[in-house]
Amino acid sequence: LYMCYDPMKKLGEIHNRLKQGEASLDRLEMILNAEEGVTDPPQPVSISKVEGRVSFKDVNFSYKDQEGREIPALRGISLEVPAGQVVALVGPSGAGKTTFASMIPRFYDPVEGSIRLDDVDLGELRLKDLRDHITIVPQEAVLFSGTIFENIKLGRMNASDEEVKEAARQAHAHDFIMMQPHGYDTQVGERGAQLSGGQKQRISIARAFLKNAPVLILDEATSALDSEAESRIQEELADLTRGRTTFIIAHRFSTIRIADRILVFEGGKIVGDGTFQELQEKHHLFRNLLEMQRH
Ligand code: ATP
Repeated sequence: LYMCYDPMKKLGEIHNRLKQGEASLDRLEMILNAEEGVTDPPQPVSISKVEGRVSFKDVNFSYKDQEGREIPALRGISLEVPAGQVVALVGPSGAGKTTFASMIPRFYDPVEGSIRLDDVDLGELRLKDLRDHITIVPQEAVLFSGTIFENIKLGRMNASDEEVKEAARQAHAHDFIMMQPHGYDTQVGERGAQLSGGQKQRISIARAFLKNAPVLILDEATSALDSEAESRIQEELADLTRGRTTFIIAHRFSTIRIADRILVFEGGKIVGDGTFQELQEKHHLFRNLLEMQRH
């Protein structure tokens, strides 16, 4: 049940509320910013050009349950991720992958240790500035009531019409959009276009292309789409990762296979860090995980 409170997983819950017409983008922002104690610094450091290096130094993090007891989720995490590296996060359920990824946009702050983007501690940045440099693609696409065009434009509100369409082309969404009754102006949702899971994902990917942030967090779908739609989406996702520091909560063998680097999580620690080949040769847990995911 804790999953309902996790910001990354909350997106799914918000999705349902949106479907019922109860939420707006403001509300999404509010929910995402509502984490206790995550605040803007009094004198924020401004960053303009972000390369996308991410580093964790001795990071410990615990959740608190309703009685205030600590639930350790990350212990002694230290690593350096160079700009542009594609990192797959693997490990058993509850190992800390989502928590790790959630720390980068500051859904939670470390209890101990520090996290840096390029060379700046995340806590020194204005939250908005930090999150402008990070794109999150959730497991299930979050679409808002409005047109397809508006849904893509959310990626970057000052984008031109042509940029919105270019992002749709990059996500291979342009063609099916043009086939909708009103093209880009087609409403999504109950009284508008009935989009398939794959098409919604492509709109979400188009939004991510439009945002064009140097850091990308992908929460890979565990099941959902049919396998053909899934394998085609994988190509667009691979395009999206190019040139961006990417963290993928990975469930698929094919994703793990193409990552530059794999982090194996267990019990809140990183117990393996290497390339696919390195880990396959010598890492027992990794081999077991692969056995379970090899389909
Ligand atoms: P999964 O693959 O199932 O998504 P995961 O590797 O992403 O798992 P996390 O969700 O990061 O694991 O969970 C790490 C630990 O933190 C687990 O023990 C989990 O029970 C706990 N946890 C996660 N989110 C919360 C929360 N919001 N409140 C309390 N405990 C939490």
